Amino acid sequence: MSAAAVELLDSLQAYATATAACTRCRLAEGRTQVVFGAGNPHAELMFVGEAPGFHEDKQGVPFVGQAGKLLDTLLAGVGLERDDVYIANVLKCRPPGNRDPQADEIESCEPHLFR
Ligand code: SF4
Repeated sequence: MSAAAVELLDSLQAYATATAACTRCRLAEGRTQVVFGAGNPHAELMFVGEAPGFHEDKQGVPFVGQAGKLLDTLLAGVGLERDDVYIANVLKCRPPGNRDPQADEIESCEPHLFR
């Protein structure tokens, strides 16, 4: 791995650590943990879901449970695995009862995704 790639990885890890304490929106109150993202940080392909569900909130990993199985199947269909891509959500904390994200929550959380 090149020095630049290592620096990028360190930077992403540092940002994930900082985001773990985020309280920019009301979803911080009900979460088990922030679900930052997973996969290959150098991937050319990134999947972005809506928000963590029950299992993602518990495990801290995006796309687990049924959605995760479907993703794995779809990836395998095009010859890819999770380690070939990066996976995250628009919201990094689970909305209560898996309700739809609200506009102000998206506005608060999108900067994490874009960064
Ligand atoms: S959903 Fe995003 S903005 Fe809201 S508390 Fe979680 S990490 Fe922060």
